[in-house]
Amino acid sequence: MDADEVEIRPVISGGQPRGKGGGPAKCKRCREPAKVEVARANAAFCADCFLRYVRNQVTKAIDEHSMFAEADRLLVCVSGGKDSLALWDMLMEMGYDTTGFHIVLWTGEEYAAESRDMCERFAQARGAKLVVRDLKADEGFTVEQIAREGRRVPCSVCGLTKRYLTNLAASQGGYDVLVTGHNLDDEAATLLGNALHWQTEYIARQMPALPSTHAKLVKKVKPLYRVSERETAAYSIIRGIDYIVEECPLVAGNTQLRYKDALNSLERLSPGTKQQFLFGYLDKAAPLFAGSDPVTLRECNECGQPTTGETCAYCRAKKQLRAKARPPVEFTEVAP
Ligand code: AMP
Ligand code: ZN
Repeated sequence: MDADEVEIRPVISGGQPRGKGGGPAKCKRCREPAKVEVARANAAFCADCFLRYVRNQVTKAIDEHSMFAEADRLLVCVSGGKDSLALWDMLMEMGYDTTGFHIVLWTGEEYAAESRDMCERFAQARGAKLVVRDLKADEGFTVEQIAREGRRVPCSVCGLTKRYLTNLAASQGGYDVLVTGHNLDDEAATLLGNALHWQTEYIARQMPALPSTHAKLVKKVKPLYRVSERETAAYSIIRGIDYIVEECPLVAGNTQLRYKDALNSLERLSPGTKQQFLFGYLDKAAPLFAGSDPVTLRECNECGQPTTGETCAYCRAKKQLRAKARPPVEFTEVAP
């Protein structure tokens, strides 16, 4: 768990942010005692005003990037974690037409069961529609298996699987927009990783809203890109959302986590660094990268889903797995 995440709990559950003179801080908006400090905004809020602050950030993201309209059908990808469940909660509160979508990826037995359980309980409590796909039951393999057999990094296999199955579900289900819970920390860490390696084509694609560029590629949006991980945790706790706190068991040593740690160190010394880095990129640098990813999409010759090559990466990974699973050819001796 992130150090920032641990810190939020005492603040929410009774500890109080301190004001400038050392006394209890007051809510920036209503002057009631503050419960949550948002250092990057140089502000502290009471619980109600904090929820309002987070919702305003999400509304701003939706409006500024024309993410979706009231009439759109949204497929909200939920992992069972704080970010995506908080986002689904907010979008429902705002009156959008949402359906949750969860993939049981099997990156660990207990982790898979608990993640699914969190999503199902959340949906049930709100009478919301949730679609669940189980990789093992539906496809006959797990992320762990593909990573092991193909000697691939589990997080990249997992990312590929999620991108493929979420788009497929949205496209086949006739949804207008695919929504994910990527937050400010996720986006800043991805940008740092891409900039460190100067992966210009990835940098160009790292926008809060990606339009559909093929009939089978659904528009993708990230309405939480203005909200930090610490803030989605606080939002979930205040709203009474139960979420899976554990990290995925395969994530240990993940480079993205290292970039998050590095950014958190900078953020502690100088609050606002993460948002300056990400928002600065979006405002000033993103236009310079636009067009450095001139891909032409065609349909995969195996599954018909959009891809840049002949066979999509998902079908290639599955093929590799099938080849490994095939029993060795047996030679029977034939008498002369
Ligand atoms: P992650 O890749 O775990 O950082 O998650 C990024 C976003 O992908 C989450 O906020 C969710 O919107 C989505 N997501 C992650 N895991 C799942 C899952 N098992 N099923 C559906 N969506 C997911
Ligand atoms: Zn394919």
